[in-house]
Amino acid sequence: MSDYKFIAGAVCPMCGDMDSITLKNDDSEIKCISCNYSKQKDAEEIKSIKIIND
Ligand SMILES: [Zn+2]
Repeated sequence: MSDYKFIAGAVCPMCGDMDSITLKNDDSEIKCISCNYSKQKDAEEIKSIKIIND
């Protein structure tokens, strides 16, 4: 997991878990640690990732 960093406030589109989405260090891919959902960052579905800023 050292190649990934957490995205604060991000909600997984697959399982709905918050703060479980990680971003690969080269920003090429996102991954959920709860359900193993993963996606290339430039894919259409990444737009459904909701990032909540405080
Ligand atoms: Zn998930």
